[in-house]
Amino acid sequence: MLQPGLMMDRPLLLSSVIEHAAAQYGDAEVVSRETHGPLFRYTYSECAARARKLANALAGLGLQGGDAVGSIAWNNHRHLEAYYAVSGSGMVMHTCNPRLHPQQLIYIINHAEDRVVLFDATFAPLVKGIAAHCPNVRTWVCLADAANTPAIEGVANVLAYEELIAPCSEDFTWPEFDEHTGAALCYTSGTTGNPKGALYSHRAIVLNAMSGCLPGVLSLSPAETILPVVPMFHINAWCIPYAAPIAGAKLVLPGPRLDGQSLYELMESEAVTVSAGVPTIWQALLGHVEQHGLRFSTMYRTAVGGSAMPQALIAKFMDTYGVEVRHGWGMTETTAVGTMGTLMPKAKNWTSEQKQALLAKQGKSTFGVEIKVVDEQGNTLPRDGTSQGELMVRGHWIMASYYKGERSPLVDGWFPTGDIATIDAEGVMQIRDRTKDVIKTGGEWISSIDLESAAVAHPAVAMAAVIGVKHPKWDERPLLFVVRKPGQTLSKEEILAFLAERVAKWWVPDDVIFLDALPVGGTGKVQKSDLRKQYGGVFS
Ligand code: AMP
Repeated sequence: MLQPGLMMDRPLLLSSVIEHAAAQYGDAEVVSRETHGPLFRYTYSECAARARKLANALAGLGLQGGDAVGSIAWNNHRHLEAYYAVSGSGMVMHTCNPRLHPQQLIYIINHAEDRVVLFDATFAPLVKGIAAHCPNVRTWVCLADAANTPAIEGVANVLAYEELIAPCSEDFTWPEFDEHTGAALCYTSGTTGNPKGALYSHRAIVLNAMSGCLPGVLSLSPAETILPVVPMFHINAWCIPYAAPIAGAKLVLPGPRLDGQSLYELMESEAVTVSAGVPTIWQALLGHVEQHGLRFSTMYRTAVGGSAMPQALIAKFMDTYGVEVRHGWGMTETTAVGTMGTLMPKAKNWTSEQKQALLAKQGKSTFGVEIKVVDEQGNTLPRDGTSQGELMVRGHWIMASYYKGERSPLVDGWFPTGDIATIDAEGVMQIRDRTKDVIKTGGEWISSIDLESAAVAHPAVAMAAVIGVKHPKWDERPLLFVVRKPGQTLSKEEILAFLAERVAKWWVPDDVIFLDALPVGGTGKVQKSDLRKQYGGVFS
């Protein structure tokens, strides 16, 4: 007979994360860029006290366990307090992506049944446009003091956060409940149909955040200062706002200033050691650093993900600036990081190019997540690094069903990601494409990611995107979009010749369109759907 373990049964709750930080790393700092400009700084102990004040304030507004509180906000300290106050009270923290279309924002706020919405002043015009269509929202709270809370014409119930919490007590007893209770809700930024909600449990977030602290993932400790540029409005900023307090790391929140210069200055002034962001943000950061001949004096590691990190960018970080790159993969449905690429000890004697080629892949699944790739019939494909199929995941922080969803998306207990990937014998996964982005030509597949990565390696190319365009003979053929670096000239013939040396002949795009900018969505990903709409006609 199996023996029951004789351990205490303490639920994994988010309230315990901030109380742990307050008790054990009470003087570790949180630095936050206010929406109106200045830097604000305090400690985890003060953060916990203000989270308790907010918990009292929300109760005072009549909210109770199970109610949803929305946020339309940057990465800042008040948003952080809300992360803990809302979830810690047993309510659901619904982070809204401000870059969704207003109709989709209205849809998700109503679908989630948000009772209160917290917003940054930047988004006051957005609130003005949607408030009348969100009948469940009783109160709109601006994450600011009274002086920085704008009056919003036509929206009566707007409160200033500081006025709301000022009269409330710092004493609040966090309720204890089942660790499987919903803590945070994030909707997909899907380009077709309505967004779908992933409701993360306390347990899923705590386990993911603990895994994020591991040396092979973000490697957090009290010695580190981490700057998450990945947004708190999308997939919990990869759970860094939970992982940093668990580890006692100093947390730096950049607010609305996400341009290269502002990020660089913040990294330098706050002695940031580790950062996390999407490739487009890092491209802008390196653009600034290069243009001004700067160096990073403290930052030595960056985690990147959200879309594929081109090898050329990895090379620049590592070889030119001595910054270690960790390349991760995850999606709304996976709470945060599912896989992370890092160099194993045997890579010590590899050439730079070998190291970068490995880091251009999305790495190994972290403990708590299992991965496999399957063919169209659902058969598991070999881990040989070349057999590609749909990536399937399962684990402690992988979604089982969509919020209020009718049908389970799972296939034999695994979540189908819609990504096409390979896994090699050592377990290293590489995303080859999205199922909808891969280019099918003459019965073969071309990876748009590989082509983009090859194009970005050209010194005159700032950004590149590839879509499949219908072709009467080949089914689809690749069309390349290029944004040149400022002041650079580059012709179609030059970039095609450059690619011809690097990819198979039949991969070379049929045409090149030069643009001033690529359409980028709310989470920093190139919106290929927009490119397809505009340019996805037919090649003759
Ligand atoms: P989202 O749910 O909006 O965060 O999008 C998740 C999707 O982003 C994944 O399914 C992948 O298609 C893509 N993605 C995330 N990380 C990476 C990465 N490191 N490389 C390539 N694609 C990625």
